[in-house]
Amino acid sequence: MRPCWAEIRTRALEENFRFLASLAAPHVELLAMVKGNAYGHSLALCAPAAARGGAKWLGVTSVEEGIAARALCPDARVLVMSGYARGQAAAALQFQLTPIAWELWQIDELAAAARAAGATAASVPVHLEIDTGMSRQGVLPGELSRIFSRFAPGSPLRLEAVMTHLFAADEADSQATQEQLARMDEALGRISAAGLFAEWLNVGNSAALLAGQARKLGELAERHGMKALLRPGLALYGVVPEFDPAFDAGQEPASLAAARAALKPVLAWKSRVVGLRSVPAGATIGYNATFAATEPMRLALVAVGYADGLERSLGNRFYLLVRGERAPLVGRVSMDQSVLDVTEIPGVEAGDEVVLIGAQDDESITAYDYAHAMGTIPWEVFTRIGQRVARTAV
Ligand SMILES: *Cc1c(COP(=O)(O)O)cnc(C)c1O
Repeated sequence: MRPCWAEIRTRALEENFRFLASLAAPHVELLAMVKGNAYGHSLALCAPAAARGGAKWLGVTSVEEGIAARALCPDARVLVMSGYARGQAAAALQFQLTPIAWELWQIDELAAAARAAGATAASVPVHLEIDTGMSRQGVLPGELSRIFSRFAPGSPLRLEAVMTHLFAADEADSQATQEQLARMDEALGRISAAGLFAEWLNVGNSAALLAGQARKLGELAERHGMKALLRPGLALYGVVPEFDPAFDAGQEPASLAAARAALKPVLAWKSRVVGLRSVPAGATIGYNATFAATEPMRLALVAVGYADGLERSLGNRFYLLVRGERAPLVGRVSMDQSVLDVTEIPGVEAGDEVVLIGAQDDESITAYDYAHAMGTIPWEVFTRIGQRVARTAV
């Protein structure tokens, strides 16, 4: 097999979930976010691990991903975060997937499918998303009243949760978050004034949890007679979100410091040296000769390229680990291969393990290291790891 793989520490994921649940308790319960193929970590490995860690709720991208999650976790509540496409309501029902819904057509399609399946009154749960300022998904608070009749007595649908997404939870003391929660508070007031009751308030990501928002969300829920559900993703995979702006020195919430100490990375991405060569000064490396050896150099060919998710722009400006040391990527990253300068690293041999993400001896490379070099975020780094990179449980 081509040596380019990702090791998934399912035990770390279980422990991360338990730790996050302990941070959240007693104010809120947690949903384990496994959308995007578990942030590129493999739904097949991570959904069951989250369930073993105690997750009762899983969040997936689509009905397709929900069907896969249902097969893996027969007892989990599966929430379809991006709603569903037209024509998928019957499948959502069949596999007991709970949609996040906000469009009238989504709600009506689900009600029609539920009636056709002979569902009894209030037997099909729906999580209604409110747009509190992100302008992505969700009903605008001013348009809520159009939705209410859909949950009138006799409807097969039950408004199980009211949901929103905080778009700036990773900004310390975010004014935007306060405003979003104020809008949510008002929307919840309107919903109960219309005689509707939702059991859950579904709000918040990793940053909200680690910034210590659980108590506040729990209090907001309690004011409306609801329970709170929070939805961490990144932290579940052992990565602590960076806050921008960061907390002032001494102001860092205890939950964030605790998370830094407790969370364990779940994914390690590895390859191997497949060949070595020594080149004289002046030899050029890779497409367009963007690197020329300034001295006699020793080069290692590695079985990883941009088709595996190693971004091409990292050529000549990033490094990978070999024998516990940082080896610079020289020349352009090719589709399936890249070249490391191992001149300064004694004893490198064909077959040596190369670490792209993870630790080797005292060195490590994190998803944030890539994110900073690439001008993106760890979420994108993880989800770009190519499909052909085999994920294996360790
Ligand atoms: C992805 C996502 C989350 C999880 O976000 P993290 O920052 O990874 O914790 C929570 N809620 C919604 C709606 C999401 O799309």
